[in-house]
Amino acid sequence: KRFRMDRTIGDTLRRKPHPAVHALNGVDLSVRRGETLGIVGESGSGKSTLARCIVRLIEADEGTLRYDGVDIRTLAGSDRRAFNRRVQMVFQDPRGSLNPRMTVRQTLAEALTVHRMRPKAGIPDRIAELMELVRLPPEAADRYPHEFSGGQRQRIGIARALSVEPECLIADELVSALDVSVQAQVVNLLLELQQRLGLTILFVAHDLRLVRHLSHRVAVMYLGSIVETAETEALFAAPQHPYTQALLAAAPDLDPTRRHRVPAAKGELPSPVNLPSGCTFHPRCPHAFDRCRSEAPLPRPTATGTAACHLLDQAAPAAAPNRQEIP
Ligand code: SF4
Ligand code: MG
Repeated sequence: KRFRMDRTIGDTLRRKPHPAVHALNGVDLSVRRGETLGIVGESGSGKSTLARCIVRLIEADEGTLRYDGVDIRTLAGSDRRAFNRRVQMVFQDPRGSLNPRMTVRQTLAEALTVHRMRPKAGIPDRIAELMELVRLPPEAADRYPHEFSGGQRQRIGIARALSVEPECLIADELVSALDVSVQAQVVNLLLELQQRLGLTILFVAHDLRLVRHLSHRVAVMYLGSIVETAETEALFAAPQHPYTQALLAAAPDLDPTRRHRVPAAKGELPSPVNLPSGCTFHPRCPHAFDRCRSEAPLPRPTATGTAACHLLDQAAPAAAPNRQEIP
């Protein structure tokens, strides 16, 4: 299968074998069952790399990544196949994952057969159900991917992912290539499916408006690390980390009533090959002080999550050390 990848630190890692690229550093992130977790950050922040490490499109060099208490990097054979079924990724451009020479019916039948989801006789009914689930007419299953619009193809990609009855969907920039009106339809469909099927969703996106609409909690990434996590409304109302503050300030059309108004982060994203010392945000941070240049901040508990910034130091003791680490 051909998977299209947008340019991420992970891609750099794959194309250039030489320098050690710190794509992800000690990411400690947990997702609760049935919750939508938004993952935001500038392009190059490592959010796609994280998503792809979880579904093992990229193999992490070291560290552990637990799903339901089991390190998924150790899974093999039937356990790995079971995991592949339980956690599904849906792609920005499903043309990369839908075979253009197969009708939607053939694609869905193949997924149902490979994972032995239904006896042969039950497959036509299940296909009709899946089409209905993503709000497409069942008879459209006899068409080919190119006969659908971008938004409809996105729905087919979702139907294919759902065909194997996953617990968790990972959506990486799922709707960013679509028109705004179509984006809303696909995102609302995800919301509905999440509630109806009790899905856990990892929604990776740079569009803060969409993330806010869809997510229960949000994790903010910067240079391969999670700098802040919070419940969605808390994050947008009172971002704790200077990078989150800058990210929200740079986003147009968010909430005009929000309390924090700060200028967007100055300067470029540093190279992941040569990370800044101490707090990796310090060259761009308006609040940086001496300690920031020498010491990396640990995540500290906040009202609804964590933030890794020395400014929060006085406020609370350090959070528990990292349990799950991806390099
Ligand atoms: Fe800014 Fe220092 Fe906080 Fe980093 S630790 S975000 S440089 S204040
Ligand atoms: Mg990306």
